[in-house]
Amino acid sequence: MRWSQTFIPTLKETPADAEIISHQLLLRAGLVRKLTGGLYTFLPMGLRSLKKVEAIVRAEMDRAGAIEVLMPALQPPEIWHQSGRYQTMMDALYKVKDRANKEWVLGPTHEEVITHLVANEFNSYRQLPRNFYQIQLKFRDEIRPRFGLMRAKEFIMKDAYSFDVSDEAAMVSYRKMYDAYIRIFARCGLRAFPVEADTGVIGGNYSHEFMVPAETGENDVAYCESSGYAANIEKAVSRGPSVSTPADSSGPAPEKFPTPGVVTIDALAKAPFHVPPSHQIKTLVYMVDSKLTVLLVRGDDQLNEPKLIAQLGSIAVRPATADEIFAALGAHPGSLGAVTGVPASIPVYADRVLQGAKGMTTGANEDGHHYRHVEIERDIRITQWLDLRTVQAGELSVQVGSPLKIRRAIEVGHVFKLGTKYSEKLNATFLSEDGQRHPMVMGCYGIGVTRTLQAVIEQCQDKDGILWPLSVAPFEVCLSPLSVVPTSPAWQLAQRLYAELEAAGIQVLLDDRDERPGVKFKDSELVGFPLRLAIGEKSLAKGEVELKVRGGTLQVVKAEEAVQRIVDWVHSERAKFAA
Ligand code: ATP
Ligand code: MG
Repeated sequence: MRWSQTFIPTLKETPADAEIISHQLLLRAGLVRKLTGGLYTFLPMGLRSLKKVEAIVRAEMDRAGAIEVLMPALQPPEIWHQSGRYQTMMDALYKVKDRANKEWVLGPTHEEVITHLVANEFNSYRQLPRNFYQIQLKFRDEIRPRFGLMRAKEFIMKDAYSFDVSDEAAMVSYRKMYDAYIRIFARCGLRAFPVEADTGVIGGNYSHEFMVPAETGENDVAYCESSGYAANIEKAVSRGPSVSTPADSSGPAPEKFPTPGVVTIDALAKAPFHVPPSHQIKTLVYMVDSKLTVLLVRGDDQLNEPKLIAQLGSIAVRPATADEIFAALGAHPGSLGAVTGVPASIPVYADRVLQGAKGMTTGANEDGHHYRHVEIERDIRITQWLDLRTVQAGELSVQVGSPLKIRRAIEVGHVFKLGTKYSEKLNATFLSEDGQRHPMVMGCYGIGVTRTLQAVIEQCQDKDGILWPLSVAPFEVCLSPLSVVPTSPAWQLAQRLYAELEAAGIQVLLDDRDERPGVKFKDSELVGFPLRLAIGEKSLAKGEVELKVRGGTLQVVKAEEAVQRIVDWVHSERAKFAA
């Protein structure tokens, strides 16, 4: 391919609305262009890399025994009603109307469609296991599309769905996908690691996310280097807070005291009160599936909403408004507490760290007042003890007691063991050996293909541009003759080497633009081709050309040896990312 015959609109300036480096480089290297927020056009170089990521994903899915299909993006809402997700995924669904005013759904994911297919096609244990996958567009009405391809309204996902006869068999299918994911990310040159994950609205009971460490990620991962434990913060557990909870007997009864104007944990921690946050009970009021609910965590802890949702099996959870709170409890946020004034009809869930706590201080459910000497089990009616807190860095891991660390990461893939949630609702059943009918046991497995591509850029770049791993680079080699005058020796040699490299199966882009060397070099570094071969008139006079691995040092080699050197280097790089 010649540079002049394709379209690589590189930019000198950083686009103002691109916040993170990978988004900036996608635009600056001319890989994509924005149509509007969350919607992008892939330009030739971006498309070539995208196809390479897809090819790696496809090869590993095929190798793991998954079968490729292609399902419709446009879906009837009936199957979404059947699964119950018309309600639970309401906010994410794009809906369109046809000429008869009938509504359709643009698929954000495909559990419903594949389960419908499998329900109709398979009937016997003999036909299982099956695992179907596709590489397809997904549509999601994201609250905040941002960071380019990272969180888009429309994006490409590889999604796979396994169907098994038993839980045990489903674990085997899960493990195959898990292992395939490890290989896929490694072959894309991406450092990604699996972490235990919350299952969220998709349901199911066992799940891992594949995370790429990056400051710009939207997830926090807690991990322990000694044991290898790693979990999304939405799910992570520890041996408990670093500061222990007071448990000394505190007094005969809670004592109310005035705290005018004190409405935060911090304010109560300061003069004149000096109540450390770990000695306070934080009272939060939520609407959990439309039911007003009181939640208690320690003053220095944060409520973990995904944990709450997971343990209560609830669907819609939000903080109650100040009006809803006042109507139910008679006080405003900042003075809330559960010692008095919480009607028996309102459930009170408390974090397990508070179990046995004595000598605590909490709001009195009366503006401007708090209680001290609170013994939680004596003084508060607890409906249920739950794990409601978010772990903090430095807490000890459950496994070996080493301090947990927390870091930001980008989620590129997600594997779930689904169980029978969808197969029951959509009637995907089979006859077992003994003639009994059972729901199939499912798993589902997603990779954000477009997000993965951008995650590679986020991880592989320097001040000059992208440093593509060879496996996903748009071209392996950029050939830059520094003269394009047809009669010049540089151009003539370039033509010959170009033909030889192509004949040797090397993916080479010939920069045939009549540009200054500086421009050519800058562009080739920005787009990030793994190897550059420069042919200048001066060195050529000595029979030499210049090779430069992106991010490495310049090597001067004999023109006659250049092709072999390049072929050897490309082959050894390819081997690093091979199956
Ligand atoms: P997130 O938590 O980032 O919203 P998710 O958990 O909703 O993602 P899944 O339903 O697990 O996503 O989808 C599988 C994969 O699809 C994710 O691991 C991610 O790589 C990708 N993905 C999800 N949403 C988007 C999006 N809006 N834009 C690009 N890729 C996405
Ligand atoms: Mg996910």
